[in-house]
Amino acid sequence: MEDVLHRAPRQVDPPANKISEYFGTQVFNEDAMRMFLSEDAFLAVQQAIHKGERISRTMADQVASGMKEWAASKGATHYTHWFQPLTGLSAEKHDAFFEPIPGGRSIERFEGGMLVQQEPDASSFPSGGIRNTFEARGYTAWDPSSPAFIMGRTLCIPTIFISYTGDALDYKTPLLRALHTMDQAATEVCQYFDKEVTKVVATLGWEQEYFLVDKALYYARPDIMLTGRALFGHAPAKGQQLEDHYFGSIPERVQAFMREFETEALKLGIPVKTRHNEVAPNQFECAPVFEETNLAVDHNVLLMDLMEKVARKHDFRVLLHEKPYAGINGSGKHNNWSLATNTGINLLRPARTPKENLRFLTFFVNTIKAIHTHADILRASIASAGNDHRLGANEAPPAIISVFIGDELGRLLDELERDIKGRMSAEAKTEIKLNIGRIPQILRDNTDRNRTSPFAFTGNKFEFRAVGSSANCAAAMTALNTIVAAQLRAFKKDVDALIRKGTKKDEAILQVLREEIASSRPIRFEGNGYSEEWVKEAAKRGLSNIKDTPRALDVWVRKEVKSLYAELGVLTSKEVDARHEIELHSYTLRIQIESRVCGDLAQNHIVPTAINYQNRLIENVRGLRELFGAEKARKTSATQIRLLEEISDHIHEVMELSERMLEARKKANEIEDSRKKAIAYCDEVRPFLDQIRYHSDKLELLIDDELWPLPKLRELLFVR
Ligand code: ADP
Ligand code: MG
Repeated sequence: MEDVLHRAPRQVDPPANKISEYFGTQVFNEDAMRMFLSEDAFLAVQQAIHKGERISRTMADQVASGMKEWAASKGATHYTHWFQPLTGLSAEKHDAFFEPIPGGRSIERFEGGMLVQQEPDASSFPSGGIRNTFEARGYTAWDPSSPAFIMGRTLCIPTIFISYTGDALDYKTPLLRALHTMDQAATEVCQYFDKEVTKVVATLGWEQEYFLVDKALYYARPDIMLTGRALFGHAPAKGQQLEDHYFGSIPERVQAFMREFETEALKLGIPVKTRHNEVAPNQFECAPVFEETNLAVDHNVLLMDLMEKVARKHDFRVLLHEKPYAGINGSGKHNNWSLATNTGINLLRPARTPKENLRFLTFFVNTIKAIHTHADILRASIASAGNDHRLGANEAPPAIISVFIGDELGRLLDELERDIKGRMSAEAKTEIKLNIGRIPQILRDNTDRNRTSPFAFTGNKFEFRAVGSSANCAAAMTALNTIVAAQLRAFKKDVDALIRKGTKKDEAILQVLREEIASSRPIRFEGNGYSEEWVKEAAKRGLSNIKDTPRALDVWVRKEVKSLYAELGVLTSKEVDARHEIELHSYTLRIQIESRVCGDLAQNHIVPTAINYQNRLIENVRGLRELFGAEKARKTSATQIRLLEEISDHIHEVMELSERMLEARKKANEIEDSRKKAIAYCDEVRPFLDQIRYHSDKLELLIDDELWPLPKLRELLFVR
């Protein structure tokens, strides 16, 4: 403990120059491409990035050669295809550029084929049954829209991961498909307002929360090491309330860590801006400037990886789990989302003229409508064993999906809904124009932010707050962009139908928006999302409140969801089934591991310690009796006896519950069907974790601190 308390911060010399001088130096970005590629090769890559055009084999050879030269100039000796399998982590397989040639010499080789396609040993990545063992293996394919970068001495090439039959085996493939569909759908709708718009990209700005814990304490907690969260531990007597006077400044050791990982992130082109507000003790946050969604997703995955690597150098471990410590604020990853046109317009930013604001309203209302129609898809996209601890746990967004837009915008939508009825009179039109014109004013005055809403409009973007801290943003972003694209298509169809019948364009748009405002009303909620009343109110409104992962994932077997994903070209029915299977399996595994670790610790650490202390007390009572005689000792040892009784009860409970949990696990393991198995783990196994913890935490309070084998939460949280 002493050592831990007095660890000196690792001294890292920050690069002397300005950030602009080292930002993106490890990235094969436009500047590097201009320098290392021929004019033709440069143009080919640009066309691939911006227009999705294919790169020919000869061009690929040229690009590979330029990339190799650039990488070598940065000291890279290896290369890897970098991809995001459905395990939630990034994966890589390193190959050396080096190749021996006859005559005992060697060359550095990297050709187009190696850049464009690779065949990793895919058998260990989950495929949800898509890739049977007799089938061909999966392969990775270059994604030119995310630039290559160098980590350590390895050139990393962002890729997608698919089976030989073309089925998606990763997070990025459906994301790219969803973004493509969104581009098409949003561009078409933009054409109502501005013919110049030929491309729309979804933007993403994530905010990553995480905890830091000292290495030594981490190693002394097998539960945290193996499951990412503390399965035991009484909340400190004063948890977050302490923050007022405890957290004036970030300790030097943490600052040194942050500086180093931010510098490394900046070199990799991740636009992190220094910002670390602490929420809970030892909890921090990092938020870069928003980017195009595909790149932002890659950058988040890269940053999580980088954080862990740099933390090790500082004798810290990073906890990305959604709820490392019960009773203390959990971690999320807010996804700020908007749409931007090739003409530089943020479609969710209210503008100056009524005409521009009609465009804003179109995207604003269609987003709300999409959330209303497809709330369950969004809910499923953020479901995980870890996130179950946050959602609906009266802390951070509830499991009920709703949209917050603020009272003022809410009133405006209400007025619009009322005004636009039938064919419009001249006065009504003026009224509407006035109303729409008021939007920017309203927003300027309206700064209140409802922190309890899972999906909130924050002035010029929506913020999806229910995403888990350890999640790959691609899952949520695929879902969100898919459902909004679907809604925009439906909107366009309705508006076009009205126009064909002779309604003027603006009026047709307003008509359809009005219907959408009316029908999506139940999803709008401005009140306290953590309250009991909201749960009741939401039920009355017919909104879903899906409390656990296995049930949230049920959305993937719905016929209409499958056809929606297939129609929009995001996931085929087979791919949806595979994902469902993988996520159920991963849920079961997580709970299974937690349950095993909990059982082990209870029986090997906690109960023996309790018995040990029990023996001391028995010794003590016996001593008192010897000393004072049975009669007098009855009084002097009363406290010890009471303690003994309490401890014995808790020991009994811990042992008994552990036995029963083991039985429940055995029964669940016999189930073949993966959905039923996940539900058995959720309903029959998981509750024991909390019950065992309850008794163990009582023991922690009763037993001599010196004997307690696990570092306590107060140490994990406050030592830094
Ligand atoms: P705060 O919510 O703390 O006031 P901001 O509103 O500036 O901070 O932004 C929060 C996050 O939203 C940042 O990560 C930022 O990059 C992101 N963001 C801002 N504008 C957009 C946008 N148009 N699209 C996506 N993300 C955005
Ligand atoms: Mg936020």
